[in-house]
Amino acid sequence: MVTGTRTAFITGITGQDGGYLAEQLLAAGSTVHGLVRSAAEVGPTEAAYPGVTLHIADLTDTVAVTRLLDEIEPDEIYNLAGISSVARSWQEPVATGEVSGLAAAGVLQAAWELTDRLGRRVAVVQASSAEIFGNPATAPQDEDTAIAPVTPYGAAKAYAHHMTRVYRGRGLHASTVILYNHESPRRPPAFVTRKITQGAAMIARGEQDELALGNLDARRDWGWAPDYVDAMVRAARHDRPGDFVVATGVAHSVREFVAAAFRAAGVDDWAAHVRVDPAFVRPVDAVELTGDPSRARAELGWAPTVGFDEIVARMVRADLR
Ligand code: NAP
Repeated sequence: MVTGTRTAFITGITGQDGGYLAEQLLAAGSTVHGLVRSAAEVGPTEAAYPGVTLHIADLTDTVAVTRLLDEIEPDEIYNLAGISSVARSWQEPVATGEVSGLAAAGVLQAAWELTDRLGRRVAVVQASSAEIFGNPATAPQDEDTAIAPVTPYGAAKAYAHHMTRVYRGRGLHASTVILYNHESPRRPPAFVTRKITQGAAMIARGEQDELALGNLDARRDWGWAPDYVDAMVRAARHDRPGDFVVATGVAHSVREFVAAAFRAAGVDDWAAHVRVDPAFVRPVDAVELTGDPSRARAELGWAPTVGFDEIVARMVRADLR
């Protein structure tokens, strides 16, 4: 879907989504600028995504980020940076609030001032999350589901989500993509999905015997990460800004993910290798999150292209390699 020569600015470019987004935009001829936190990240990130121009600043340094946006004058800003793990947000609630929540206000204000100065559209896409819904009473959730987070991560994301709406009300082309879990071989092993695919691959190769996991009954709506960044670009380029649930609409349990991963790794009896460890059960956790992507489908022409079994198999194949 990505087309056209535009200038994009991506925060979180070293992350799973930032990388796929940079690749898609570069392949389509866009000029891509990215934010990294330290000089040490410049070389590896430039090597991974040849053609990107990198800038060093912490997202919480609003003055520095505003100055960068003033210089770059992007057409599109993708705010993906943040502490993206719920587990880590319990360990670092203040930092999570600052980066995943408050810092978005700086990006939005800078975009609004730039829009005013340039007299043209500067679109902002905020990476929102299904975790803003907390433990919703109904499934699937949509853009009108009550925002009631139950984790520090969800609360930080809820603030950024509300602020995006506030700036949209002020006239900024500001959209949120309410992302449900999306995976790829680039998912860090701290996330349960990658921990499972890596564990299944190691068990298949005889390098590990056992995999310790938390709640196997938690159910999530898992999609393919490159599909989800495509939705971000569609939101940035859509005539009207808005909130868009980006999800597959189908939930699977962690248990089903484990079974699919061991199957893909060629290990028959997954239950013999998996132990439930209470240490990995989160203090509060949403039991089922499933998104209704009808609006993204109707307005953005977006649809997921890779199904659950194939996502798991691709991750396992990468880990076996
Ligand atoms: P990720 O892999 O964890 O990447 C996070 C990025 O944020 C990294 O590039 C990281 O840089 C950067 N970052 C963290 N703190 C920063 C700071 N203070 N200043 C500047 N950069 C900072 O996340 P992802 O999976 O790509 O997700 C992208 C976005 O979508 C995130 O906002 C996440 O919360 C949201 N989201 C993701 C999912 C999902 O399933 N993946 C679901 C819902 C929402 P370093 O390399 O320096 O750490």
